[in-house]
Amino acid sequence: MMISRPVFPLPLPLSVLMLATAVVHAEAVPNREPLQATPFTALELGSIRARGWLENQLKLQADGLTGHAEEVIPELGPENGWRGGEGEAWEKGPYYLRGLVSLAYVKDDPRLKKQAQVWIDSLLKTQREDGQLGPKSNNDWWPRMVITWTLRDYHEATKDDRVIPALMKYARYLHANLPQQPLQEWAKARAGDQIDTLYWLYNRTGEKFLLETVDELRKQANRWNPFFQTLRGSPEDFRIEHGVNVSQAMKYPVVNYVRTGEAKDRAVFGEAWEVLPKKHGLPIGMWSGTEPLAGRSTTQGIEMCSIVEQMLSNEVALEALGDPVIGDRLEKIAFNLLPGGTTKDFKQFQYYTLPNVPVARKNVPRTLPFADDHGDDLLVSPHSGFHCCCYNLHMGWPKYVQHAWMATGDGGLAAVAYGPTEVSTTVKKTPVTIQEETDYPFSDVIRFTVNPAKPLAFPLKLRIPEWASKARVAVNGEMIAGVKSGAFLTVDRTWKAGDKVTMELPAELKTENGYRGSAAIWRGPLVFSLKIAETVKTFTKIGGGFDEIEMTPSTPWNYALDLERENPAAQVKLQRAKMPENPWLPESTPITLTVPAKRLPQWGLVRDERMADEVPESPAASDQPLEQVTLVPFGAQTLRITAFPLLRGKEIPDPGLSFSHHHGGDATDAILTNAAPSSSRGEDIPRMTFWDHTGSAEWLQWSFEKAEEISSVSVYWFDDSGSGRCRVPASWSLSYKDGGEWKPVKGAGAFGVEKDAPNRVSFEPVTTTAIRLDIQLQEGFSGGLLELRRN
Ligand SMILES: [Zn+2]
Repeated sequence: MMISRPVFPLPLPLSVLMLATAVVHAEAVPNREPLQATPFTALELGSIRARGWLENQLKLQADGLTGHAEEVIPELGPENGWRGGEGEAWEKGPYYLRGLVSLAYVKDDPRLKKQAQVWIDSLLKTQREDGQLGPKSNNDWWPRMVITWTLRDYHEATKDDRVIPALMKYARYLHANLPQQPLQEWAKARAGDQIDTLYWLYNRTGEKFLLETVDELRKQANRWNPFFQTLRGSPEDFRIEHGVNVSQAMKYPVVNYVRTGEAKDRAVFGEAWEVLPKKHGLPIGMWSGTEPLAGRSTTQGIEMCSIVEQMLSNEVALEALGDPVIGDRLEKIAFNLLPGGTTKDFKQFQYYTLPNVPVARKNVPRTLPFADDHGDDLLVSPHSGFHCCCYNLHMGWPKYVQHAWMATGDGGLAAVAYGPTEVSTTVKKTPVTIQEETDYPFSDVIRFTVNPAKPLAFPLKLRIPEWASKARVAVNGEMIAGVKSGAFLTVDRTWKAGDKVTMELPAELKTENGYRGSAAIWRGPLVFSLKIAETVKTFTKIGGGFDEIEMTPSTPWNYALDLERENPAAQVKLQRAKMPENPWLPESTPITLTVPAKRLPQWGLVRDERMADEVPESPAASDQPLEQVTLVPFGAQTLRITAFPLLRGKEIPDPGLSFSHHHGGDATDAILTNAAPSSSRGEDIPRMTFWDHTGSAEWLQWSFEKAEEISSVSVYWFDDSGSGRCRVPASWSLSYKDGGEWKPVKGAGAFGVEKDAPNRVSFEPVTTTAIRLDIQLQEGFSGGLLELRRN
């Protein structure tokens, strides 16, 4: 079944006729029963245009990496398997095309549309009689989850009548073959993406077999719901702790809920957003993953794929759950991590985006503390790190614009994520255009002009961010009562052409606690970083502005801030400047902060000067002179410090375990809950290991919520002699935290290294917030723990 274009009702006021020169998009297609009715439904690709700084961002992308990817990044030429050739046949082509189609149609860019059309036409020609789509050489379901999403986007924008039959044919192939070719590996982890596209198809065709296919996918997928509640997977799951899998699969509980309607499924997305930051959160709007989830250390970062995938998952979740905080969190990623991870002309990016990264250079692989260290994860390059992000990052901005407005379940429109945009759609069969004029997030004021083709009653919903406790909204100059932060405000009235809604979202300066008591400074959706002068050196010449570059700091970076954690506004001065075309340039960004600070000479570069040492513990002491330093929005720097030590205040404990290193696949927290292993081999129980470090000095730190009296510690060592290369350690010792210092425990007995038994050591009682095990591994071997107990 095809959706026909709406017929334009006449007569129309002249102003609307002028606005309507672009395609007016059909009304959103809501879920069809038995799928859950959702609070919001995405509008079709092309319904929303970017304006102002956001439009400039899309232009930079078209002139930068997206518009020139086929020249700059390998494997996207005519030989690509998704274009019918014999070349790349996995995720690269689909990732790139999804971003390209989104950008081409959000931006309404003839050159990019032509570029995308070449791919779409040759892709459709690859479809076999049995329905299989794409390269012959690879039948993996996973890249087809991306390519079918791309076709769905392309259809929304073009109504190309080849697309729905092709998608239905592929869906029948999937339905017929899933039982004998079950989901494996990445497809098992990312099934939520396929389910969302099958819903899209079901809502347009009503074909019941599509829901049977959904249910088969749900049967075969990773067990995401329990993972998002506990962060513990099971052996049948595929790489359930992989950061990109986690971000992509955040949509899994959401699509699951759309099928079941059960409250417990509905709750999982929000629970995941509570659990993940606690264990792996960085104070920059997301959690670490390098590539496995990697804890709260400021030496860890976020993979670019996770950034754009988390944005898409939040966009999908906004539709189905309608919770305004999902929009708050989406903006924080879009306005900080996305511009922060990419260069300001969108020609390069970094594979991992870190809170603290005062140097960006190539390194010897596996010498940085990332669980996966490719050697160029911090190099500023059009293809930094493993070659996935350079294909996947293109969807970030255009998909943000595409989801900034949504249709509401009660027949209106909702502004769910802000920025300068214009939406043109139909509401109750009447064309409606709304202009959203703003420099947000650099300005606190957003002005909407509502233009229905004729006076029309409908609810307009506006997201009032949780942080905007003093939000005010006026319609045609009259204040609206009952504006509440952390909620959608509904303005239900008969709208006439030219009606104006003005929203003010005053933001306050706040700190967010990071690792070791560090603090990041936020104002509304923006987090701020130290302005560091960046010296750029070409590492690999590519030309056209796309060179691989290294950056080193030419101004100091090792500062601790002299401010009150609870009241940063008392010490921080905010300056505003004129809004430039590109707000992400450090020299002309429209908001800067001035903060008193002192340098910490002991905080330096480590690991062959390839990264900053871990953030020193707060409160930090410094005998250096007081200076005033400048902070700019996170997105305006490539080199930056964001999680700062503070000179004032109390110690903030980081409860839980941390390690000098651990194997990416380990369930490290299990050592606190495992009970009485039967042997050091630890059959069938999760463990923590320092693998693949061998013969090295390692440490394990265990911090508590509050100070506790401790007089004994017991360790059950892991040792897989006979099959693996982990052994009990050569030796170990124990210290406890006293103020800012680590002190050895006194009066301790032997620090045992027995196999197949708990090694308990008693000592003079200490009252402390943390203990630390220093562990010397045996020469040539690694090691680990099965169980750790105190008292
Ligand atoms: Zn990636």
